[in-house]
Amino acid sequence: MIDSHCHLEQKDYNNDLDKVIELCKKEGLKALVTVCADPNDFERSLEIVDKYKNYVFLCAAIHPQDVKKFTQKKIDAYFDLLKENKKKLVAVGETGGDYFWIKEESWREKQKELFIQHIDLSKELKLPLVVHCRDAWEDVLKILEQEDVKKALLHLWGNKELIPRVVEDGYSITIGPLIARSKKHKEIVKNMPIESILLETDSPWFGQNGERGVSTNIRIPCEYISGIKKMMFEDTWKKCCDNAVKFFNLKL
Ligand SMILES: [Zn+2]
Repeated sequence: MIDSHCHLEQKDYNNDLDKVIELCKKEGLKALVTVCADPNDFERSLEIVDKYKNYVFLCAAIHPQDVKKFTQKKIDAYFDLLKENKKKLVAVGETGGDYFWIKEESWREKQKELFIQHIDLSKELKLPLVVHCRDAWEDVLKILEQEDVKKALLHLWGNKELIPRVVEDGYSITIGPLIARSKKHKEIVKNMPIESILLETDSPWFGQNGERGVSTNIRIPCEYISGIKKMMFEDTWKKCCDNAVKFFNLKL
């Protein structure tokens, strides 16, 4: 199995990242994709992928909920840095739209612009796109289609009405531990082909019982998906792993 989306640069892991990685290996995780969503975290993220080479892979962007935080000059400088480090990246993301945190129309417009800049970057670097979306479902999907994005992973996508279009567009989704308490995510799994489902934890968020999230929680979505798809746990484990290797083009 592969955790397709976690944030190992977060301070939650500062004291024991070695131990966390060891545990992941022991539990049979083949790789982790860490997501750097803030330019200020990029250096730490690089350190991590250098240290755990060929086990932790990197994906980077500016989180859409931080659209107010950075000037265009800062964004350009960050994008230059990403271009310089292109070989260390397996995707551009998470980028997209977040209308839950961003309510003002003018900032939502700015968020769309930033999203399109990320799409252009992913095309330039020939990397797939990891998409974050909250309450901006229709707009995010429309932009992906208009910009003719071929390879996108919709991280923790939470809109079931648009799933037929997501399938038709050939996009993939991730499912996380949230599925345990979400009817909507269970419905989404039902309507999504297993070939297009990857697993993630988004840790350190979505921990169990108020604890810090860790990548080994990947067993939770794997169990639920197995139940819904009537598959053996081991088959789901392997299939979703293969899907991640293929999506990120991982060289394990
Ligand atoms: Zn995330």
